[in-house]
Amino acid sequence: MAVGNLSVVGLGLIGGSVALGARERGLARRVTAFDLSPAAAEEALAAGAVDRVAPSLAECCREADLVIVAVPVMAIAPLALQAHAVTPPAAVISDVGSTKTSIVTLLDALPEGGPSFVGGHPIAGRENSGFASARGDLFQDAPFVITPGARSGQGVEVVHRFWSGLGCRVHVMPPRQHDRLFAYLSHLPHLAAYALTDAVLEGVGGPDTARTFTGGGFRDFTRIAASDPVMWRDISLDNRDLLLPALDHLIARLDFLRGLLAAGDGAELEVVLTRIRAAKRSL
Ligand code: NAP
Repeated sequence: MAVGNLSVVGLGLIGGSVALGARERGLARRVTAFDLSPAAAEEALAAGAVDRVAPSLAECCREADLVIVAVPVMAIAPLALQAHAVTPPAAVISDVGSTKTSIVTLLDALPEGGPSFVGGHPIAGRENSGFASARGDLFQDAPFVITPGARSGQGVEVVHRFWSGLGCRVHVMPPRQHDRLFAYLSHLPHLAAYALTDAVLEGVGGPDTARTFTGGGFRDFTRIAASDPVMWRDISLDNRDLLLPALDHLIARLDFLRGLLAAGDGAELEVVLTRIRAAKRSL
């Protein structure tokens, strides 16, 4: 068993999947949860994902060995700071936020002593939010990135063991390196998918035409444009200083392809597309 008392704060897609996965794999003796939404809490209880839904954050964390904060990114640091004040000193507090630098920096400012804080990010998800979309096997074979900070200490091992138990391949890197990597691998593709969907729907005259004639290319490329807009607003803003250069990079590449097209340079266009196809196929 990886932990005794597991506390999950936020029972949406990710928190719900953590609770279900921990339950299915016997990773915790007892799972307690707290969520602002009574509906999510009831669903989780009914699904047997948690033993108890606590009426407050303090009640949820009072006897925890490991607290996983799985709320929207902007709420993580304030909740983790509140949890720090009410969680046993030997416990570990961790999170699942898609951005890491701002969260870890705020938690680094905590005084020494008390529970450790270990930043974390599961690289698994879906475009649907909420407990209804949670799955116990969501993290199987997925990468999980630990971004240690000044207050992480031995907590890194606890978090490593827990997420390995959920089936993840665990990596450790500094928060800023994480945020740069995921500006490219996740945040940029989401903004690109939203922008492409917007341009195409405007270009073809609306969703009715698109629905009638859509093929795999448009569907595949734009799947993630169905993601939660509030979540992607917050992630984009929080990682703005690293996402802006990534966006500029993409715009430069589009501009380059546009230039070849405008010049009618089919030979060079083929060379470039062939190079990119080879890189993509090697992934
Ligand atoms: P979600 O499905 O919307 O779940 C978030 C849950 O947290 C909701 O039940 C929400 O309740 C609750 N909540 C919000 N504020 C709270 C608060 N102050 N106290 C207690 N509960 C609160 O979101 P998610 O997709 O699971 O994302 C959660 C975190 O995981 C985010 O930080 C995100 O960056 C990260 N993440 C997401 C994905 C993904 O693909 N979705 C992948 C990796 C990491 P209400 O509905 O009532 O607001």
